[in-house]
Amino acid sequence: MRQPLVIANWKMHGKGAFNQALVSDFLALLKEYRAACVLCPPTVYLGQVAQLLGSRDVMLGAQDCSHIDEGAYTGEVSAEMLRDCGCEWVIVGHSERRQYHQESDALLAAKLTRAQRAGLTPVLCVGETQEQREAGAAEHVVKAQLLGALSDLSDLKGLAIAYEPVWAIGTGLTATPEQAQDMHAFIRSVLREFDAANADALRILYGGSVKAGNAAELFAQTDIDGALVGGASLDAEAFAAIVSAA
Ligand code: PGA
Repeated sequence: MRQPLVIANWKMHGKGAFNQALVSDFLALLKEYRAACVLCPPTVYLGQVAQLLGSRDVMLGAQDCSHIDEGAYTGEVSAEMLRDCGCEWVIVGHSERRQYHQESDALLAAKLTRAQRAGLTPVLCVGETQEQREAGAAEHVVKAQLLGALSDLSDLKGLAIAYEPVWAIGTGLTATPEQAQDMHAFIRSVLREFDAANADALRILYGGSVKAGNAAELFAQTDIDGALVGGASLDAEAFAAIVSAA
């Protein structure tokens, strides 16, 4: 009942000519697929990618948005501006933002509200570090991240979650399908406590070294509804294979 969702997170990669080749190769390779698909290029290339996507049903997303609507916030980009540039989605609380920009759960709560108010669907990222997993604290950490960021929302409509174990991002280490499924089921149980009516319709994506070779077994798990893909999304062939596997 949940349509799979596959999101490309280009992070801080790309350049005009590279983007053009990547998007046109990807669109040419994309044949039969049932997943909803979103590309999140760096902010400055949103306009370019919007044009390249044209009328194809691949959607546009941003990698972050401001927690403020507008004003004297040099360097910030508001959710409304992203919507105005054609975005339908925005990634919120990626572990790299939490780590390098000290984004707190309270800040992420404000971003979720701003994004939804602007008409974007936020994808809230959660996930534990290696040390936290080894200490047996993975579920505790993920639950706290969820409840902290969701604190200003009254329900789970217009939202997706991405579970990205920090130790699996860009490292080549992927959670096993069983490890990922266990955490996804746990996340859904936490979400059910929060909003029983909408928790089962919400999509929970897995992220962390998803590749063409491991996507299918991850997607076969009951509570894995798609993927947030970093490195492999910069390769048209690999990303098209992942979208087709969903
Ligand atoms: P990766 O990144 O696929 O390169 O591990 C995933 C992410 O950080 O969203």
